Amino acid sequence: MRIADNAYMLKIGQEEGGAYYPVLVSDGANLALIDAGYKEHNEAFVKAIEAEGFKARDITHIILTHQDGDHVDGVKAMKKLAPGAVVVAHEEEAPYIDGSKLNIKLQDWIDKQGTLTDEDKADIDERKAESAARAVPVDIKVKDGNVIFGDMEAVHVPGHTPGHICLYLRNSGIMVGGDALNIDGGKLVGPNPVYTYDQAQGAASLEKIKGYNPKMAVAYHGGLITLR
Ligand SMILES: [Zn+2]
Repeated sequence: MRIADNAYMLKIGQEEGGAYYPVLVSDGANLALIDAGYKEHNEAFVKAIEAEGFKARDITHIILTHQDGDHVDGVKAMKKLAPGAVVVAHEEEAPYIDGSKLNIKLQDWIDKQGTLTDEDKADIDERKAESAARAVPVDIKVKDGNVIFGDMEAVHVPGHTPGHICLYLRNSGIMVGGDALNIDGGKLVGPNPVYTYDQAQGAASLEKIKGYNPKMAVAYHGGLITLR
C-alpha cells in the first residue's frame, strides 16, 4: 500500500496470526526495506515488494529498527536476493544484531532467573542458537538525526531496546515506528510493556516521537494510523 510519494507499507502474515508491517522507501536511486521479518516469510516479502512495483534485488538498504528476531531473522534470506544491500542500524543496537552481544531481553531474563531448571537451560540454549543463527554484520551504524538517504531521518527512541530507531520521512511527515509505538483504540501508545526493556525510557521516547508532530505513523505490529 502506497502511503507517500516515496513510501509503501507492506503487510506480511495474517491478522489472526499477528500480521506485521514492514515499509519500503525509495528515492529512485535507493530502495530501503525497513525491518525484515522472519525468514519463513521471505516469499511473502518478495510478493509484497513485487506488488508495489519493485524487485527484491533492487533493495540497497535493509534498515533494522532494532535487534529482535521478528525484525532481524529475515535479513540473511533477503541478502541472498539483494547481495549488494547494506544493513543499517543504530550504533548502540549493532552489537546485538551482529551477535557480539546476546539479545538484551533474553540476557535480562537469564540474569533474573537465579537458579535455572534443566528445562530453562534447554530453552536458553535453543534461544541462544536462534540468536546466533540470525546474526548479521551491521554495515552502517547511525546516530540520532542522521539522514540515511533522501528525506529519511533516523530518530533514536530507546526503551523497547537501547538502540531502537524510528525512521521519519520529513516530506510526508510519516513516522515509521518499529516497536517504539503501537496503536490502541485509535491512539498512538508506547512500546508493549511485556516485551520492553526499559518502559520509562519507552514512554519518554513516545513523547519524543509526538514532538515531531507526525502526520501518520506506522506501527510494525499495528499498521498505519493517521494523526492529523
Ligand atoms: Zn517486533
